[in-house]
Amino acid sequence: MGKKVYQPGEAYQYPLLIKKLLVNPMINTPNQEIVYRDKLRYTYKDMYARVHRLASGLAKLGVKHGDTVCIFEFDSHRYLECFFAVPMMGAIMHTMNWRLSPEQIIYTMNHAEDDVVLINAEFLPLLEAVWDHLKTVKKVVVLTDDKTIPETKIPIDIEYEDMLKDASPEFDFQDFDENTQATIFYTTGTTGLPKGVYFSHRQLVLHSLSEAITMGSYESIGRFRSNDIYMPLTPMFHAHAWGVPWTATLLGVKQVYPGKYEPEMLLKLILGEKVTFSHCVPTIIHMLVTSPVAKQVDLSNWKVIIGGAALPRGLAKAAMDLGIEIYVAYGMSETCPAVTIANLKQHMLDWDDEKKLDVLIKAGVPFALCEVELMDPMGQFLPHDGETTGELVLRTPALTMSYFKDAEQTKALWRDGWLHTGDVAFIDEEGYVQITDRLKDVIKTGGEWISSLDLENLTSQHEAVSESAAIGVPDEKWGERPVVIAVLKPEYKGKVSSDDLVQFMKKCSDEGKIPKYGIPDRFEFVDEIPKTSVGKINKIALREKFK
Ligand code: AMP
Repeated sequence: MGKKVYQPGEAYQYPLLIKKLLVNPMINTPNQEIVYRDKLRYTYKDMYARVHRLASGLAKLGVKHGDTVCIFEFDSHRYLECFFAVPMMGAIMHTMNWRLSPEQIIYTMNHAEDDVVLINAEFLPLLEAVWDHLKTVKKVVVLTDDKTIPETKIPIDIEYEDMLKDASPEFDFQDFDENTQATIFYTTGTTGLPKGVYFSHRQLVLHSLSEAITMGSYESIGRFRSNDIYMPLTPMFHAHAWGVPWTATLLGVKQVYPGKYEPEMLLKLILGEKVTFSHCVPTIIHMLVTSPVAKQVDLSNWKVIIGGAALPRGLAKAAMDLGIEIYVAYGMSETCPAVTIANLKQHMLDWDDEKKLDVLIKAGVPFALCEVELMDPMGQFLPHDGETTGELVLRTPALTMSYFKDAEQTKALWRDGWLHTGDVAFIDEEGYVQITDRLKDVIKTGGEWISSLDLENLTSQHEAVSESAAIGVPDEKWGERPVVIAVLKPEYKGKVSSDDLVQFMKKCSDEGKIPKYGIPDRFEFVDEIPKTSVGKINKIALREKFK
């Protein structure tokens, strides 16, 4: 690609490219810090220089515009460098969920047509197991903290730091079409093969702007602004850590990357680096809230957005009791992912805590530029009256245009010009979305629908319950009946029975919180609730086990 020559009077057609997100921070905060565990700290200026070296190094390996670079890595400064360098070269960043099964890893790498793999040394055994089945990979770069590379049969081309050291600090990131694909990753869903979702530069830039506006500009709680200190707790392979690494860089905030998620290291970083802003799935906040160490430390400067699954009220309260400022956001892999967030409106800011909590655990109001509607199965829009439920459908500039090379599945995703989420929701008069279930998880008993999330939310408010999941189990008479699988807090084990909890739910029903037919038939106690590869409750596994 040669340099474009402009004629007098010809305007620059500004393309929305990821490289443009670096313009402001390099002026405003070149000396701002980026931290990796307790191992490394450097500045935005250093990151910028390393992004150029990374692109030069990858180009030397043969990476060109349109090639796909697959990354197996923990959340690190190196991953952040890839978030910029790979798409800025015009290549596609494939963020690998290293928790996938070997079959899924083979399928996704061949399907994405990965050309080059960047892999943390810890994951080399994973790659070894699938190596002989990979059809397109040509080069392998190993990422290490200390240059130790274990014995492996994989032909390694170079170590990451060596590649950067040897590479030119100059790289001319050219302009290209903003609709160029920048990323791809796979969502495993529940059944069938993983589905690829992909996003363009334009989409990721607009998504970053939308996040910066929605999370920072309104007079609300938990704002994300330039003086925050950010640490992701949603892996960077999962929906680009909600795109926040790009937004954080645009804002020039201090960033802390925790590497492998180890509770002690996380707490050390939160306290030591004075982290003020994170995001995670409920499972992670549950892990922290139940850790004895969390009670001994001050978490009152920490704002956490919880998304990826419903946040039960009991868990929200437990986090707030530790001083954490929490609120919910909603989205999915297909949506880039930010769609709605439980921002409080200005007139709600002086409400009492209980009333605020009612709002903070909703999916919330739309992000900037996002349109939300409810649709019935006939494709008709439904009212936003706080009662009528329907499938949540969306329009934003950052929705995957299709499932990658999968026209069949795309027909279910995109209908009538709206992206169909597969989530059941209602929207109230204030515009707040409340997810009531996945379409596939709704419990149907005697022809009536029960929200599994409602049952989990109520169960979470019983003092003995640590975690729970509501499922429908087959029933000859009613079709399905609700059963709740629960983990009890250690001090209540053996002291609370299924019947006690059923009585608690009866009381909730008497108070009008759930219909009578929604009272679970029984509670099953387990030591642990199975989770998916991205840390969400695995209802498929539970339905299988308790059918
Ligand atoms: P994923 O593609 O793995 O990110 O999963 C997306 C799904 O997670 C959505 O379709 C919802 O079912 C669920 N989800 C995400 N955020 C929320 C939320 N705030 N409340 C309830 N469910 C959520």
